[in-house]
Amino acid sequence: MNPIIQRIKAAGRILVASHAEPDGDAVGSLLALGLALEKSGRRTTLYNASAIPAVYQFLPGAARITRQLEAPEVYDAAVILDCGDISRLGPDWPQVAQIRLIINIDHHLTNTGFGHYQLIDGEACATAEIIHRLIPQLGIRFDRDIATAVYTGILTDTGSFRFANTNAAAFAISREMAECGVDPYHVAQHVFGSYSLGRIKLLNLALNSIEISPNGKLSVMTVTRGMLAETGTQPEDVDGLINYARRIEAVKVAALIQEQGDGETDGVGRTRFHVSLRSDGTVDVAAWAGAFGGGGHFGAAGYQVETSLAEIKAQLTRWSVEM
Ligand code: 5GP
Ligand code: MN
Repeated sequence: MNPIIQRIKAAGRILVASHAEPDGDAVGSLLALGLALEKSGRRTTLYNASAIPAVYQFLPGAARITRQLEAPEVYDAAVILDCGDISRLGPDWPQVAQIRLIINIDHHLTNTGFGHYQLIDGEACATAEIIHRLIPQLGIRFDRDIATAVYTGILTDTGSFRFANTNAAAFAISREMAECGVDPYHVAQHVFGSYSLGRIKLLNLALNSIEISPNGKLSVMTVTRGMLAETGTQPEDVDGLINYARRIEAVKVAALIQEQGDGETDGVGRTRFHVSLRSDGTVDVAAWAGAFGGGGHFGAAGYQVETSLAEIKAQLTRWSVEM
């Protein structure tokens, strides 16, 4: 922590970035640290490779997040949040990697340890928990906007205080953030309150796609580009659907296979897919994801593969025998 504080204090122009296709923790941590640094007079760029999902656009400062990077030499430091691997930043990660000082702040156990300085705590419920620790150390006080970002990161990454990563800090920080003016009802209304009609229709297709392994321990949900097109939805609308597959009785691991890109194959039937995994807490899905170059947490992980849908399902089914 201390060298990181010194480095951030000494930096003039800072890039703060989080992983592409951001979830609530990626957006919340980015805004919390970004707004805090701006408040202390730092020149800060808040970067994410993807558009910010509609449900997080209510967050104060969300409109300040940019998808544009300037040349690496412009920045004195980059603070990279919630990325287990630097390539999670998205296609422009090599440009970020050239910035002279890289600070890696994360809560994924599988973090590769990239960068010049690392602040990695696998016990933290969210990256926002670590940012909450960092901000006062930088001599910055929480205000309602920063607190709302921290609270949203913790609320979403703990699945509303239900997932296995929910810890005492999640509650203690949430209480403190509420005392700083966060309105939990307002946040919940934006984050969970309403689904577009398209998203409900996508949910219908996704539920219909569920397949169960012969031993009943694995459920597989599939979301294709065609389903998004048919329902007029975006990749961000897929967030959270996997939880339906996980809740099925006797299921130990749920997988969500999501077709990526424009859906074109390479001529031999290979397409790029993202596989999300959730376990009931008895199976280490980070280890499985790691074997495919991905990562995550014991109970929630993911990886990317370029193969056929049938091959991914066959691999998962073989694995289900050992569960
Ligand atoms: P999700 O399934 O929501 O995309 O991700 C679940 C967890 O696994 C998150 O903590 C996320 O950071 C991690 N994860 C998902 N996909 C990947 C991936 O392709 N690579 C790595 N390293 N981690 C991933
Ligand atoms: Mn996170």
